[in-house]
Amino acid sequence: MQMFHSARLKLTLFYVFVIFLISSVFSVAIYRVLSHELDRGLRLQRLRIERPDRVLNPDLPLFLYPADTQILRDELTRIRLNLILIDAAIVLVSGIAGYFLAGRTLAPIEEMVDEQKRFIADASHELRTPLTVLKTESEVALRDTKLDLSQAKNQIKSNLEEVAKLQSLSDHLLTLSRYEDISLSLDMRKIKLQEILEKAKGNVLLLAKKKRIQIKIESTRVEVSGEEVSLIELFTIFMDNAVKYSPLGSNVLVKVKTEGKKATVQIKDNGIGIKASDLPYIFNRFYRADMSREKNKVGGYGLGLPIAKSIVEYYHGKIDVISSPGKGTIFTISLPF
Ligand code: ADP
Repeated sequence: MQMFHSARLKLTLFYVFVIFLISSVFSVAIYRVLSHELDRGLRLQRLRIERPDRVLNPDLPLFLYPADTQILRDELTRIRLNLILIDAAIVLVSGIAGYFLAGRTLAPIEEMVDEQKRFIADASHELRTPLTVLKTESEVALRDTKLDLSQAKNQIKSNLEEVAKLQSLSDHLLTLSRYEDISLSLDMRKIKLQEILEKAKGNVLLLAKKKRIQIKIESTRVEVSGEEVSLIELFTIFMDNAVKYSPLGSNVLVKVKTEGKKATVQIKDNGIGIKASDLPYIFNRFYRADMSREKNKVGGYGLGLPIAKSIVEYYHGKIDVISSPGKGTIFTISLPF
């Protein structure tokens, strides 16, 4: 991206400038100390030759002869040249290293911006579909001069369905942004997992009944520290998916266990399963496996699991998934006590 390339160059220039400043200060200091020492030596030397009566130890051997003065001056010039060369080399090396470093510094930011753009594009795409349906259906109905009351009511019903979809999408987006906010601070307390799971089950009971799916909770008395609403939201997502992606009349089993310093909740269904090639992506925002899109025609936006992931990350927990297509899926959520 052009923007990041120019930012990288600017950052590199900044690094080089700082290093150039430091090395120049050092070089000037070294040069000044050396030339000062040399001048002092020469002055002393001259004094010893010209006025031996004024120096402390006139008998000390002369370590320099006047002819050597020029040699010393030449040496100083060489030192100056060497310092300039060393500075130039430092600037060159710091330029290369700085460019590399600037790339590494900016890479995560670039990735974040890319992800944000993709997210906005996906969200707009999801919003467009129900909006287009709403618009065209309403336009067609308006143009229809023979539209009777019952047809109009049906039209409103269909419009309301689209509005409900939009509402659900905006709810999901708001929930996601809430849990992805790094400054989020939830009111933590000790909570009985059994109660949370029962409430989550209550949230999906309607759909489960429609599909004649039994949700069985096997739980021991386990308490975790957390905030009720977020935990209910978390387990609702997994139970809802288990019901959504399972055939009529099947079973969903929810099992609670304790392992060391954490509680694990296993949600097992006998549903359509997830292909191994889809598994790495199911926690990505807006990702929906083809099987759920086409075969099952199940509604959703691919935002449930990303929300679940954000909640579990907030609690420093972990989500594992095992799935075999056509047989079922097991999600295991571990939460520290
Ligand atoms: P969605 O709204 O599509 O359910 P999620 O983020 O909750 O979004 O899930 C992402 C995708 O993961 C789903 O579209 C589906 O393909 C797959 N998935 C999640 N849970 C299950 C499950 N229990 N069984 C089969 N597929 C699942």
